[in-house]
Amino acid sequence: MIRLIRAFIDTAALRHNLGTVRAYAPGAKVMAVIKANAYGHGLVTTALALADADSFAVARLEEGIALRGAGIRAPIVLLEGVFSAEQLAEAAHHGFELVVHDPLQVKLLEAHRGAERFVLWIKMDTGMNRLGFRPESFAAAHARLAALAVPALELRAMTHLARADELDQAMTRDQVATFENTLAAAGLSRITTSIGNSAGTLGWPVAHGNWVRPGLALYGVSPFGGETADKHGLKAVMTLETTVLTVREVKRNETVGYAGAWRAGRDSAIAILAAGYGDGLPRHLENGTPVLIGGARYPLVGRVSMDMIAIDVTGAAKIAAGQKAIVWGADLPVEEVARHADTIPYELLCGVSQRVPLELK
Ligand SMILES: *Cc1c(COP(=O)(O)O)cnc(C)c1O
Repeated sequence: MIRLIRAFIDTAALRHNLGTVRAYAPGAKVMAVIKANAYGHGLVTTALALADADSFAVARLEEGIALRGAGIRAPIVLLEGVFSAEQLAEAAHHGFELVVHDPLQVKLLEAHRGAERFVLWIKMDTGMNRLGFRPESFAAAHARLAALAVPALELRAMTHLARADELDQAMTRDQVATFENTLAAAGLSRITTSIGNSAGTLGWPVAHGNWVRPGLALYGVSPFGGETADKHGLKAVMTLETTVLTVREVKRNETVGYAGAWRAGRDSAIAILAAGYGDGLPRHLENGTPVLIGGARYPLVGRVSMDMIAIDVTGAAKIAAGQKAIVWGADLPVEEVARHADTIPYELLCGVSQRVPLELK
């Protein structure tokens, strides 16, 4: 044993999940979203495992450049687009597809004189109010991009859903209607489209478009609250495994850890594990958060420290220093752990820190 803590990445599960996503959106192409180091799973590893995806999407130029540097030749979409002539030139050099959501980006493309031509995803804001042209400005933006001196390879249309994870919410239908009606009114009903993220892909057949853009689902995690991804036939990709550093006796009424935040109500056995906020665990993981040791669940007690957590293993036989423990993974869904930190699984996965090595399973 060399490493105390590591995140295993199950590449077979990644491929399985891509197949599952395809089955939810037959007829749509899949733009695999691998921004933020593939939600903590490793950018290049994930792209290589998902070689069957129709394209990849990242948030930032550097992420795309890293993929090209690793020899990935598939189409790569920059979800936030570019913000300077220098970035545009880099994007052209690497053949990236660009999301266009702001007039600055239209100006940069109008000023571009290079020979390279772009696939441009014009983004419509249908209610998210984050990025995109408002519906009433969309046709004008499209017209300017259709008139570029260096013509685009293709103009496409996309929008992003704000509440697709809430299956009883009318907003998703409203957003899709706004998107489709605006395109139709502009004479663009045949333009190539992209709408659904994971929640849109799994939960809203009307919200797919020609290209779906799943992220979370590919990592085997459900975007819907109160459930886990196995319900959709998805398999967890990351298992965060750590090691028991010691098991100690704590007497009734003694406290454990910083601030004495937990007090033993009985004579207890406390396992100290090598995982803390320095590894990306939220400091506010609550008492009672489950951890798996030897296949059984035990509750976290006391404060999360930088390098360690404490687990109440009172009454458990045979837990000792050196033993492995699972913080989340196939048998302990990250969806469940996220609820104990009052957050979403996205944040836990993206938060796994640099000092945790990723290992292929
Ligand atoms: C991150 C992102 C996605 C993927 O979202 P998931 O909920 O992880 O599926 C899709 N589209 C855009 C524009 C995004 O920023």
